Amino acid sequence: MNLSRLASSIPVSPTIALNEEARLLREKGKPVIHLGIGEPKNKAPITAILSSAAKLSGGDVKYVPTDGTPSLKKAIVRYMDEYYNRKVAPYNIIVSDGAKQCLWNILYTVCDPQDEVIITAPFWVSYPEMIKMIGAIPVIITPEDGSFIPRFDEIERAVSSYTKAIIINSPNNPSGMIFPEELIASLVELCETKGIYLICDDIYNRLVFDGNIATPAYKYTTRDVENSKIIVVNGVAKLYGMTGFRIGWVVAPRKMVEVMTNVQSQTTTCVSPVMQAAAEGALSGMQSVVESLRLTIQNNRDVLMQELRSFTGIHCAKPQGTFYALPDFKTYLRKSIASSSAELSQFLLKRALVVTVPGKEFGMEGYLRLSYSGSVKDITEGIERMKWALDPNSPGEIYIGDRKLIRDWL
Ligand code: PMP
Repeated sequence: MNLSRLASSIPVSPTIALNEEARLLREKGKPVIHLGIGEPKNKAPITAILSSAAKLSGGDVKYVPTDGTPSLKKAIVRYMDEYYNRKVAPYNIIVSDGAKQCLWNILYTVCDPQDEVIITAPFWVSYPEMIKMIGAIPVIITPEDGSFIPRFDEIERAVSSYTKAIIINSPNNPSGMIFPEELIASLVELCETKGIYLICDDIYNRLVFDGNIATPAYKYTTRDVENSKIIVVNGVAKLYGMTGFRIGWVVAPRKMVEVMTNVQSQTTTCVSPVMQAAAEGALSGMQSVVESLRLTIQNNRDVLMQELRSFTGIHCAKPQGTFYALPDFKTYLRKSIASSSAELSQFLLKRALVVTVPGKEFGMEGYLRLSYSGSVKDITEGIERMKWALDPNSPGEIYIGDRKLIRDWL
């Protein structure tokens, strides 16, 4: 087939491929535990359901403005005021089909081919591929000290005359780390003085633990939104457990929003008004739903950390937010089991029916990303199965579903 070389070089999103693999196994009746999936279990907030149901039952579901419905934009303006302490105007906002499309629109809008975009490892799986898709070049910074927190001087050294943007994601998928305030402040100063866009992927910004705060980058600029290089991405997927509603938004200078709107008008026309009504319902409704999700996930994080403590040879930095952890599994990368994180992840799926995501996909070979967005039972049983499959100090027998399995490979 005569397909585009660029398109053909883009791999499937590994997390989406794993979700599909798990779904097919479950369909066959296999008792799979999903520690790979990045979505909370809770139902969408009732205010989101009622508001979208009202829109739908009115039957008047037509094209709406490309950049978002005026009423959802108003809700986002209020949201920015409350959670970012920033006054923004509706013309600073564009609504898209999830934060993923927001990021795509931003990258397409700011980058010419061969421009560079700096990202820091561990990074969200889609950043490098999106950057490549628009013909730009991902420049990946991996902290030299082996931590999950990039050092400012390492980022600064990577800046070149081709650098168009830096993407930061704090709290971070996959590590769960919150970037220190000094780092954010230094990055804001660097970007404002050098004219580089600072793209803040804030999709987990309120899912933070132990009294930590993910401070918005805006706090460190003296410029208003119109004159700042800061671009904010957020959405309802993670905070409200509304992954399937596909609503995200960007806050940026007016001119940039206008160009992104032109781009979106040629590719998407508009985002479904039913889903926009749902997002409006979530943003305008009781915010205790986010707090209750946050508390559930914080508890899940504690359970996971507790379970990992007795996993021989596993070290895991304690997540400060999100619903992911990135434990170091290098101790189990040996010939008899697996020689890479991808093989280890497959090994765990085959032997123990547990889904994990290989660290390689996030730029961290030797690690596995574990999601604790599911139930406590999933976490405890999932880690128990992983220990059984890998840890010689754990019992050699286990029940998976109603089948008793005996470990004979260690
Ligand atoms: N950014 C990050 C860091 C994410 O983890 C995700 C979802 N996994 C997204 C963006 C995309 O979010 P959405 O579902 O709203 O497209």
